[in-house]
Parts: sequence; C-alpha cells; structure tokens
Amino acid sequence: MSADSRRLDRERQTVAAMIRLYCNHQHGRSRQLCVECAALWDYVQLRLERCVFQKNKPTCAKCPVHCYQPARRTQIQAVMRYAGPRMLWRHPVLAIRHVLDETKKAKRKT
Ligand code: SF4
Ligand SMILES: [Zn+2]
Repeated sequence: MSADSRRLDRERQTVAAMIRLYCNHQHGRSRQLCVECAALWDYVQLRLERCVFQKNKPTCAKCPVHCYQPARRTQIQAVMRYAGPRMLWRHPVLAIRHVLDETKKAKRKT
C-alpha cells in the first residue's frame, strides 16, 4: 500500500468508526448506519477521494480549505464532538494516530 493510500485509509477507518459510534449511541443503530449517517459517510468518502492534499492531508478539522458543504460540516462536527472523546476507549490506536495526524501541516498534492 502506498503512503497516499495508507494515510487516506487511516482517515477512512477513523471517520467510519466515529460515525458508527455516534449512530449507535445517538440513533440506536448497531449493525447498519441510519439513512442520515449513511448519507454522511458517503459524502465523507467522496470528499476524501477528492481531497486536494491526499497523502499530506491534515485532519479535516484543521484543514485550511474546508471543502465540506456547510450542512455537512455541521453534521460531521456533531459526530466529532460526540465521538472524539469516546474514541480513546473504543479505538485507542485510531485515536492516537488521529491525534498525530492533527500535527501535520497541509500541503497540496503535487
Ligand atoms: S476538508 Fe480539507 S482535508 Fe478534509 S477532505 Fe476537504 S480538502 Fe481534504
Ligand atoms: Zn445515525
């Protein structure tokens, strides 16, 4: 796996885990995401695919571009606010890696 795909794959795993946790606790879904969260997850995947930074991607929360539509941004912020502090207990490795990714500086793909 290339550095490009590893970085994005990690981000996908982290956001997917956060949305699952949020949907499970807030919407009572355990096996499948609710319609609203499934649509958010589809949207996140599309943004990651088209991210201008690729392997040099900062976390979306620290991004200078913020490519999300305002409504989606509000939605993902609610997920992050809820799931962020709970991730350390549920997914410690992903949580720690996410914190490390937060120290990265954004650099556009060349
Ligand atoms: S918000 Fe920034 S880092 Fe996140 S996908 Fe969009 S451009 Fe990339
Ligand atoms: Zn949900």
